[in-house]
Amino acid sequence: MTHHLKVDMDRCQGHGICAVLAGDLVDLDQWGFPVIASEPLSEPAQLRRARWAVAACPARALQLESAPVPASERKR
Ligand code: SF4
Repeated sequence: MTHHLKVDMDRCQGHGICAVLAGDLVDLDQWGFPVIASEPLSEPAQLRRARWAVAACPARALQLESAPVPASERKR
């Protein structure tokens, strides 16, 4: 599985809690809204921080999406 953090900008209220709890995964833009790296989360510690940030988002705007690893990227 691959995991990505996503933010629903229609719901996001710019609290910035996500950047505090998962600062290595989320930056804030000049208006205080999150900018999330596009790379998949690969480390277990990253996943823990991402889940923590998702659970703490007061607007329920932050989501952790999971998808199967594409066949072309699977290790043999
Ligand atoms: S904690 Fe939620 S509402 Fe606040 S900036 Fe992050 S995604 Fe947006």
